[in-house]
Amino acid sequence: MALLQISEPGHSPDPHQRRIAVGIDLGTTHSLVAAVRNGVAECLPDAQGRATLPSVVRYLDNNIRQIGYEAQAAEAQDPENTIASVKRFMGRGLHDIAGADRLPYRFGRAAIGPVPDKDATLLVSGESLPVAPAMSPSPSGMVSLLTRAGEKSPVEISAEILATLRHRAEDTFDDDLYGAVITVPAYFDDAQRQATKDAAQLAGINVLRLISEPTAAAIAYGLDNASEGIYAIYDLGGGTFDISILRLTRGVFEVIATGGDSALGGDDYDRALAGWMLRQTDCKAQSPADRAAIKIAARTAKEALSATDNAATSVWLAGTPVAFRISRSDFEDVTAGLTARTMVAVRQALRDAQLTKDAIDGVVMVGGATRMPQIQRAVAGFFGREPLTNLNPDEVVALGAAIQANQLAGNNPGGDLLLLDVVPLSLGIETMGGLVERIVPRNETIPTAKAQDFTTYQDGQTALALHVVQGERDLVADCRSLARFELRDIPPMTAGAARIRVTFTVDADGLLNVSAREQTSGVEARIDVKPSYGLTDDQIARMLQESFATAEQDIKARTLTEARVDADRLLLATQTALNDDGGILGQTDRQEIEALMARLREIAAASEQAVDIEDASRALAKGTEAFAADRMNESIRKALSGKNVQAI
Ligand code: ADP
Ligand code: MG
Repeated sequence: MALLQISEPGHSPDPHQRRIAVGIDLGTTHSLVAAVRNGVAECLPDAQGRATLPSVVRYLDNNIRQIGYEAQAAEAQDPENTIASVKRFMGRGLHDIAGADRLPYRFGRAAIGPVPDKDATLLVSGESLPVAPAMSPSPSGMVSLLTRAGEKSPVEISAEILATLRHRAEDTFDDDLYGAVITVPAYFDDAQRQATKDAAQLAGINVLRLISEPTAAAIAYGLDNASEGIYAIYDLGGGTFDISILRLTRGVFEVIATGGDSALGGDDYDRALAGWMLRQTDCKAQSPADRAAIKIAARTAKEALSATDNAATSVWLAGTPVAFRISRSDFEDVTAGLTARTMVAVRQALRDAQLTKDAIDGVVMVGGATRMPQIQRAVAGFFGREPLTNLNPDEVVALGAAIQANQLAGNNPGGDLLLLDVVPLSLGIETMGGLVERIVPRNETIPTAKAQDFTTYQDGQTALALHVVQGERDLVADCRSLARFELRDIPPMTAGAARIRVTFTVDADGLLNVSAREQTSGVEARIDVKPSYGLTDDQIARMLQESFATAEQDIKARTLTEARVDADRLLLATQTALNDDGGILGQTDRQEIEALMARLREIAAASEQAVDIEDASRALAKGTEAFAADRMNESIRKALSGKNVQAI
């Protein structure tokens, strides 16, 4: 009815100068996204104001997924299809996962990775032998999970979480994401890092860099502003404990030791307290519902006891409410063993770093569970200094990653932070008899490149096989198989004449690339090593095509944007009509229309639900119907005035 005015595309009143770069903490229990805004790093909340996103994905029918709090709430009722703590499965085979048989999931057997060529010849220093199939570990694939929506790899599941955070960031800034720094545990190996990168790619995220979680925490505290120092990062999360020792030299961080316990976290404190609570009563938690209820009550009490001395709670067990009173000292007594176990790992990490505790210049607390006063006391007591706790321990990793992302995106030309990590496990190749020849030693600072020369064994040999492994053990069978590749088209030469230089390159993300070059002839064969547990390019391409990770959210975001644009158009058109012809309206009619406009403006700005905006738009359209009809009559009357009917 009224003419629409639409602003010219590309004529935004506030063009974005900055690239939107975020830091993402892809955590085992919680994930977060943060960005530097007005010079300060802050976590980006969801529409309900919550910064943390539970790392839980639930698969429903019709390719619908729930991600975060909704999925977490359904965990007890639909455990098979609700995947929690998927980070434990990243880049891992079934045999790597401790206690996999106790998990409520159905694991698939999909082998994702290259299949070894049994007839290839194995390259050794100066010798080559046929590969004995029985002696080489066959690379099995990354574990997969059978869900209602089909077989899902941990990479796809993690991509759902990453895509959710990407959309949160894009909604916040109303702009496309330029890139992200994603954090990984310092001990993550090549396969786990590659899996994380693959997940990001699947979620449509440009990975600026992977950095280690402790390094991110140190950056969040601005420890890089000192010229040097040695720091301990104590990270007690939901299901894992990590201790890392970092050395800062001339503004450069190096992870010099990592340690911890991958099966010790805040959840164990919940379990210990739940056990104690049950011992206080005659009731038993027999049904799964009872067990879930007592676990939730224990967690709530645990978190409350970080702030108060006593907590009271009531739990329904076998249909009757049972009341509990828990004092902080009861809780501390029953969990003292767990706290002590973390301190054992701290001592071990210091020994690995060949340092005494006096060498530590600062201690950073990371992870929600470090809010417990007994943890802070134990750490302060051991190091003889108060740990840094003034930043929110759940957020500190994401905040540091955001600062780094901002710098890598070129938004802060003043900063020149260069990050160093170390190779967490030695890298080498298989040699005669199933032994490992180490090429890049453990704890080597990355990025790095190391080379070693090899030769052929047989006259006229034109192909060689290499088997890349990772680990500290001497036998290939005890190490992780990363990749196999063949160097072909070597010019035929007499045995021992070829000089094959094998170079291992580890980039700043901790990812490995192996290349081989025959030196005498100059023939070069470059092979991109994909870890056996990673995804092939084809698999990634297929997944991207299916676009599982983004489809639903893309649609949701698009309908919301469309509803907002439609609302803006309607408001503009109504305002124009009021300005032009408001005079024909009575006082009450005009006030009514203005009230409907105000309401639509408010809802369009605040609501995340397209339907709410559409409803308000419809209400305004309906409220202006009579006005529009009057305007039409008025314009017809004007057009007709002074003309006779035949002229029209
Ligand atoms: P992750 O890095 O494994 O994703 P988080 O850093 O989010 O884990 O930590 C989650 C753990 O922190 C949970 O066990 C949770 O109960 C615990 N936690 C959160 N807040 C508190 C609190 N106030 N007191 C004690 N524990 C807490
Ligand atoms: Mg964490």
